[in-house]
Amino acid sequence: MDVKVPYVDIARQHSPLKQELLEAVARVIDHGNFILGPEVIEFESHFADLCGVRHAVGVNSGTDALVLALKVLGVGPGDEVITVPNSFVATVSAVKIVGATPVLVDVRDDLNMDPAMIEAALTPRTKVILPVHLTGRSCDMDAVLRIAEAHRLRVVEDCAQAVLAEHRGRRVGSLGTIGCFSLHPLKTLNACGDGGILTTSDPELAERLRVERNIGLKTREDCVAFAGNSRLDTMQAAMLLVKLRHLETWTQKRRRNAHYYQEQLRDIPGLMLPLERDGERCVYHTFVIQAERRDELKTHLESRGIGTSIHYPIPIHLQTAGQSLGHPAGAFPVAERQARRILSLPIYPELATAQLDHVVTAIRDFYRKGARQ
Ligand SMILES: *Cc1c(COP(=O)(O)O)cnc(C)c1O
Repeated sequence: MDVKVPYVDIARQHSPLKQELLEAVARVIDHGNFILGPEVIEFESHFADLCGVRHAVGVNSGTDALVLALKVLGVGPGDEVITVPNSFVATVSAVKIVGATPVLVDVRDDLNMDPAMIEAALTPRTKVILPVHLTGRSCDMDAVLRIAEAHRLRVVEDCAQAVLAEHRGRRVGSLGTIGCFSLHPLKTLNACGDGGILTTSDPELAERLRVERNIGLKTREDCVAFAGNSRLDTMQAAMLLVKLRHLETWTQKRRRNAHYYQEQLRDIPGLMLPLERDGERCVYHTFVIQAERRDELKTHLESRGIGTSIHYPIPIHLQTAGQSLGHPAGAFPVAERQARRILSLPIYPELATAQLDHVVTAIRDFYRKGARQ
């Protein structure tokens, strides 16, 4: 049997939803309320409930969500924001875009911010801690929040990969001052194009976010700040409302796939699997293994028709744009070592058991062969 396992398969997610999505778009075309229309309001309200916060504000991308969060917290030139070197580059871009200075700290085995590194990175200019719930697993938020409170810092959560993830029974996006989500096509709740959303329970911050995303307009006539245009599109919100109904089921399927891999691959020496700690709910935006001979394994899986990816192969401080951050190679030994070992396996909800088995067999064969050499 010739089983193929592409790394992602967005068309497969959409084909059973196509009719519903088209009908949602048709309704928007019919009412013609394209900018901040009723579907945006409805989506925001559902999303806020889902995250356990009072307010959600839809925007055009996860990147702009981060930029606006920092802006409304008054972060700008001279301020420092503590974050990690192994995120998607947008996390650091957002800090630079508002004119502030990113200060990076290393991560732990779970690919998330190591809270033990935060204290040493604090200066009188530190304003915000910006942890990233990478791969769909919450950071150790208890520790992050404790430090933030002790030093009167705000916490902006980068939840781009972690919608519905939980830390001690609370959803990410409700733990810090503001949560920032991406609705990019490759995220677990995805628009058919770009999108993002912010969460907060602070009514004043929510109001300022609404103004900041909409060219500084408080009403149609009253411009209270000069700002850009970062609105979530009504058509995207209409399609997101369709998808929102499936999100919990999709998340459970991702978790089921993850548990299957964890069960089937646990005894392989040389392979570190993402495990779930007590009190955590991981949503497995990615299922990232840490593997010896990672590049060979990737090639081997490709030869068996299995797509994989690397999130992310080059840490941010080693990117071309990252030179200006002033962290030389070797500055973050854990993140840099992980960059050479991490490999993301296919994990989407639509994977069939035969496909999961194909991945498991191919990985087991690789390490068996390796052992004989
Ligand atoms: C995807 C992503 C972003 C950026 O979101 P966009 O919607 O692509 O702008 C930011 N941070 C992390 C961790 C991401 O994965």
